[in-house]
Amino acid sequence: MGMGAGAVAGVGETRRIAFFGGSFDPPHLGHLAVARAAKEALGLDEVLFVPVGKQPLKVLDGTTLLQAGYADRVEMTRLAIEDEAGFRVSLADAPRADGEPNYTIDSLRRIAAEGRVKLYLLMGADAFRLLGRWHEAGEIPFAATLVVVARPGEDLGRLDEGLPKGITAGEAGRLGELTQYRVEDGEGRWAEMFVMPDLHYEVSATALRESLRTTGSGERALAVAAPVLKYIEERGLYQG
Ligand code: ATP
Repeated sequence: MGMGAGAVAGVGETRRIAFFGGSFDPPHLGHLAVARAAKEALGLDEVLFVPVGKQPLKVLDGTTLLQAGYADRVEMTRLAIEDEAGFRVSLADAPRADGEPNYTIDSLRRIAAEGRVKLYLLMGADAFRLLGRWHEAGEIPFAATLVVVARPGEDLGRLDEGLPKGITAGEAGRLGELTQYRVEDGEGRWAEMFVMPDLHYEVSATALRESLRTTGSGERALAVAAPVLKYIEERGLYQG
């Protein structure tokens, strides 16, 4: 199968799937732009948007820092992507029955165990910067091919700032707009990794929540899909 845009895996072939985890609190047009660009550049069959039930790095004193509940974030994400072929919401990181946080490595392993899949892990530069603190961080670059997207204000000049301890990266070439790296752990394991250029979407969920609380809807309409904005307004989300 070729790498080109629009390549679709047939029955029995390996599917190229990107795992795109996040709070999606709320999902915005920056998320969509990132997913579209990655799908196109890597010839992905599917991008899984995976709202996280309990994000371990967004918990303070045992309380989650997320504003909207899981069910609302899932529904908003579904609305955000409903018109996009190849985008799907995954419940892989639904809140756990034991109350523990969700760890991406567990979800990646579950998906990989289904077989016939080449997994990518899509994230923005801000998320990448915290990768070293993720659960089993050193395993992540080998469980899925990292695809890191530059983000306004987030310098990606030095990859070693984000890579887990003991893992190094060397430039290995280019794939269209993407820079390709080879990451190694010093014990003989290696994997590829990609860096995507900044898409110049200066939108973040944090800024968006602030504007939903304080300003009129004109500005918001530029940052979220119309059905998502409608849902937010109908449910009165982000007012508190
Ligand atoms: P918050 O402002 O609440 O931290 P966010 O806008 O970063 O939210 P998340 O749901 O936490 O949204 O992000 C999910 C993933 O999407 C992360 O990997 C994040 O880096 C990436 N991302 C979000 N917005 C952008 C953007 N404008 N450009 C590039 N990557 C982005």
